[in-house]
Amino acid sequence: MEDLTGLKKEFIKAAEELEPRLTKLSDGFYHHPETGLEEWRTSSAMQELLKEFGFSVESNLAGMPTAFRARLGSGKPSIALLAEMDALPAVGHGCGHNIAGTASIGAAAALSKILSKRLPKDKGSLIVLGTPAEELGKGKIEMIKAGIFNDIDASMMVHGSSKRTVVKHFLGLIRLNFVFHGHSSHASAYPEEGINALDAVILLFNAINALRQQTRTDVRIHGIITDGGRAPNIIPDRAEANFYVRANDLKELDSIKKRVINCAEGAAVSTGCRLECTEVGELNAPMKINLSFVNAYRKSLDYLGLEEDRQAPEKNVGSSDIGNVSQIIPTIHPHVPIREGINIHTHEFAAATITSDGHRALMEGVKTLGLTAIDLIFDPKTLHEIKKDFQRQE
Ligand SMILES: [Zn+2]
Ligand SMILES: [Zn+2]
Repeated sequence: MEDLTGLKKEFIKAAEELEPRLTKLSDGFYHHPETGLEEWRTSSAMQELLKEFGFSVESNLAGMPTAFRARLGSGKPSIALLAEMDALPAVGHGCGHNIAGTASIGAAAALSKILSKRLPKDKGSLIVLGTPAEELGKGKIEMIKAGIFNDIDASMMVHGSSKRTVVKHFLGLIRLNFVFHGHSSHASAYPEEGINALDAVILLFNAINALRQQTRTDVRIHGIITDGGRAPNIIPDRAEANFYVRANDLKELDSIKKRVINCAEGAAVSTGCRLECTEVGELNAPMKINLSFVNAYRKSLDYLGLEEDRQAPEKNVGSSDIGNVSQIIPTIHPHVPIREGINIHTHEFAAATITSDGHRALMEGVKTLGLTAIDLIFDPKTLHEIKKDFQRQE
């Protein structure tokens, strides 16, 4: 294998030259946050930058106008950088996707010259996928369904956080909607004629609370009542609750889902209600951890003299559509540290993305992604190990 030191040096220089443009771009996204599937300005600014650096860009993918694919080079290996772009209602870039997205397109832009010069024709492709609507739990899932990931060997992105971590777990998630149908009557004059749908919802919550004691520690079940009747003097003939059910692997997720539905069926039988149960939206798969890929990224941290925070808790987790990507191709989602003590989905986190701490985290992501991409594209052994690791877990 050729020595990649020269390439890496050249890449770091290109990345540092781009720093003022990238921080300006990320700050601009902060000032004009756009929520899922409305990321018009953000997506087109990302596409423009990639076009300028020689990528051929297609947009409007998988039925989502703001999704895009940018490609440089041709043939295998085909390595993808994922660019998230959506903001949250009310807290803007409280999840820091201005940093996450800009890190991926910045790494791609800084790699472009090296790849055009050094990569022989048909010997590899760098792909940037603009993946909208992460917060809606769907962008990447729609792109998987449309086959966008089919010819990709591995994918990666970074995400802002309070800590520097490489292994990132996500729980699998299923969203369940329960509607109970009963029969209304005057709650005082003719209570014996009523069938109380709200009672079924209350029994459902109690049954699930009993179920919790018998579940694994990674399982999360949390719900709200979205319809509890109209007035106290009317026995509710309709009541509704929404639940999220999460677990660390697909088998457990399926088993917990069945047990939660059993709770609902039990509540319906107890009260005489009719139950309508639907699974809402797409299943978010849990993150499949690829340790060889994790170690390739750790090598890039070492190269930069950066130390991973190994004390950070790995299990305080939600869910993300990147879990679905990790089930079909090797994928990593490391965290770049913005500042200690801040948590995602807050105003504070959003504000930190445009400070010097945020800019430092952004440039760390640009560099680690680019360095890791160099190893994946130019060193066949690295990718081979990653693929073997993936197959071992099938
Ligand atoms: Zn988020
Ligand atoms: Zn996020």
